Amino acid sequence: MTCFTEYKDLIQEGDLTLIWISRNNIRAVVMKAGENFNTRYGSFPHNDMIGKPYGSQIAIRTKGSNKFAFIHVLQPTPELWTLSLPHRTQIVYTPDSSYIIERMNCGPNARVIEAGTGSGSFSHAFARSAQKLFTYEFHQVRYEQALEEFKDHGILGDASKYGENVTITHRDVCENGFRIKQNDTTSFEFGEDEEIEAKINANVIFLDLPAPWDAIPNLNDVIASDEKVGLCCFSPCIEQVDKTLEALEKYGWTDVEMVEVQGKQYESRRQMVRTLDDALNRLKDIKSHKLEGVERRKRLLNETINESCGIDDGSVDDKRPSTGKTKFNPFGKGFRVKEGDKEFKWKDVTKVESEIKSHTSYLTFASKIVKKDRLA
Ligand code: SAM
Repeated sequence: MTCFTEYKDLIQEGDLTLIWISRNNIRAVVMKAGENFNTRYGSFPHNDMIGKPYGSQIAIRTKGSNKFAFIHVLQPTPELWTLSLPHRTQIVYTPDSSYIIERMNCGPNARVIEAGTGSGSFSHAFARSAQKLFTYEFHQVRYEQALEEFKDHGILGDASKYGENVTITHRDVCENGFRIKQNDTTSFEFGEDEEIEAKINANVIFLDLPAPWDAIPNLNDVIASDEKVGLCCFSPCIEQVDKTLEALEKYGWTDVEMVEVQGKQYESRRQMVRTLDDALNRLKDIKSHKLEGVERRKRLLNETINESCGIDDGSVDDKRPSTGKTKFNPFGKGFRVKEGDKEFKWKDVTKVESEIKSHTSYLTFASKIVKKDRLA
């Protein structure tokens, strides 16, 4: 059973779980009594997980040592799936998908068209937020893999049941458009009132295609005519954006805006407050070290001369003078102070981590209102 569509407390046999080993290592595992989840640290029995609350930490003793290894068993979410899914293509990451969903008002009334499906990363996020997702993929194998995955995850269907709201169609949307008819290769189930053709009436469009400008002319047939329709094209190159803009203008799309999401991770920590006195003391310290060094060198030189002349005046002191290195100094060298040590003054700062995982592309947004007259 999948956990994408409902929240649950306890891990049950048959559940698809996501096992968190580390931030960059999350694995999808279906719980089966008697089986083990094997890692290089050792085997974690599924029986230790079944019946426990989601989020539980499971520990085992590591092979050949007395230490413990830990994993956490998590309930799948679109965000975690994006981090753990098998990559069949480049994917859209959460910094982009969350922004697009929010910006296009993708809520319970959204009827979304997505092309192409790719690895289904964004499809899972749309499936959670939207009323309905029509996704299209022209690559046969990717189409079949995504179809199976959506079935396994319980999101495939025509929204007769909560969460089962995704249909996938095998189609080249640039060549053949978005209309879904009987005899097409599609998971769409035709109801009585749509025996021949699916009623798509999309109000949110997302195109992650190499040539979105070839698909844009085909949208007119399937977008809602009595409400504002939002569109977003996801393109890595500015030349693609340029060609997309031309098509948008030609086919009556307005409110065009291009955005790039640059995800950054901020780490907050404390930094020691250094005063002018600290700086002066440090300078004095350096100066005294320098003087000590000069004195010591002079002394060593004299000793060497005296030794070579056979004179021993009994004043030899070859011990290095104490350099004060063991003392704390706030400018780097010296002993380390634990962050937040109450002996010192601290201020809260943030440090920008390297860019977080995101397939950075340009997001071109536009909107269209087909019927501009007000309804009576
Ligand atoms: N957004 C997806 C995700 O988050 O996993 C990734 C999409 S991937 C970059 C682009 C996909 O579009 C590929 O799987 C490709 O086969 C498909 N594609 C390219 N041109 C297409 C077309 N004309 N019609 C339908 N699918 C197309």
